[in-house]
Amino acid sequence: MQTATPELTREPYYKPFSRLMKELFGEPVYKVTLDAGFTCPNIDGTKATGGCTFCDNVSFSPALRNGSTGIAAQLEKGARFYREKFGARRFLAYFQAFTNTYAPIEKLRAMWDAALAHPDVCGISVGTRPDCVDAAKLQLLQTYADGSAAVWQQRLAAGTAPTKLPYVCIEYGMQTMHDATAERVNRAHTHAETVTAVELTRRHAPAAHLCLHLIAGLPGETPAMVRQSIAECARLRPDSIKFHHAYVYENTVMAAQFRAGEFTMFDLDTHVGLAADCIEAMAPGVCVERLVGELTDPGVIAPLWGKSKLQIYRLISDELRRRGTCQGARRQG
Ligand code: SF4
Repeated sequence: MQTATPELTREPYYKPFSRLMKELFGEPVYKVTLDAGFTCPNIDGTKATGGCTFCDNVSFSPALRNGSTGIAAQLEKGARFYREKFGARRFLAYFQAFTNTYAPIEKLRAMWDAALAHPDVCGISVGTRPDCVDAAKLQLLQTYADGSAAVWQQRLAAGTAPTKLPYVCIEYGMQTMHDATAERVNRAHTHAETVTAVELTRRHAPAAHLCLHLIAGLPGETPAMVRQSIAECARLRPDSIKFHHAYVYENTVMAAQFRAGEFTMFDLDTHVGLAADCIEAMAPGVCVERLVGELTDPGVIAPLWGKSKLQIYRLISDELRRRGTCQGARRQG
């Protein structure tokens, strides 16, 4: 095993998001998921139509979306829930729905300002596609990450900023390094575009935290192919990762393909092994934000493993204990 910090040699054997938040803010931080009303170039015809085959088509319907509710109102609703349930005091605004940099700069500035103006918000996470960023958008993000944006300066002056700098994260859906898989799931971007987005982010938003998403078990992929994507993801040196299993959501293109027998899904043991492989491949400082995808949403039709997220996280920790390894144990370089 390569070097490991003492924290990584204890359960859960990796650096979870809660530990990162504790390091930065000294207390738990809760993510409030937002729908800022964006769309996606993979839906509106700019790159493709129909979206990724695993994307929930029902949520394309404007009637079912939350985007017409303002950011401040969505934040306050989410914050109230976490305050009442967990006594939460600090929140991250998570721009999750659709492609959250797919808009002109002024709209992005207005969204990010609105989120960071909330007195209990200590940062933002922005989920997007790798082909939807450019230098100007990333330079704007950098002004939040380095604390120079007017909204954060005002919070500092008012004494409501918890720290000198907010947490600012951009999350890219890498999903796989295999372009043939990306094409099969109608992802409509290449892995080369992911590599370019990572390079652009490091150049133009060096203070921002960079997260990559991977999906294990997309149609046609073998465990060996997933391990190749894990190694490539580690090579790109993200600050955090979200690794989850492929799951089939009702009313998606993938659901029809699954029912037609066009592909099979990984079993639970395979996913647990791959999650452990992923943890071992990531450098010790990388935050492991997620290791499993959606399980209990009634819209999920497969896989039905009959376990809760907590149980699966335990199985992954058990596997690392059995192997006698931890995060970073098999990283390259
Ligand atoms: S990029 Fe995201 S929002 Fe767009 S179609 Fe794919 S999964 Fe859906």
